[in-house]
Amino acid sequence: MADKSEARWREVLTPEQFEVLRQKGTERAFAGAYCDAKDPGTYRCAGCGDPLFSSESKFESGSGWPSFYEAIEGGRVRTEEDHTLGMKRMEVLCGSCGGHLGHVFPDGPAPTGLRYCINSVALALEPDEDADVD
Ligand code: FE
Repeated sequence: MADKSEARWREVLTPEQFEVLRQKGTERAFAGAYCDAKDPGTYRCAGCGDPLFSSESKFESGSGWPSFYEAIEGGRVRTEEDHTLGMKRMEVLCGSCGGHLGHVFPDGPAPTGLRYCINSVALALEPDEDADVD
């Protein structure tokens, strides 16, 4: 599932997902579905479905994008230096399908001090089954 041609990605993703995941786009701040989400669950890759972040590591960053202090477990995301826009940033990608997720910055809260700044459109929240839904 992870190994697709760009043409195939265009077929299976929405235009918004394609722009972020495959073309390294960025959704508008405060516009994403998960910016303020507090529902317990697992955030999966919108491209391949792999689990990437837990709601337990989500925090309010005020940035306008869903923010996490750690990936769900080792190896689920990978990072790469990104020198676009005249800045040196660390890009965050899905370790499985290579989709662009966002960037990670060294200004997050304890215990990691990291802030994974992730596009909502790159994620799909799978709610915990035993969670209270209100
Ligand atoms: Fe993926």
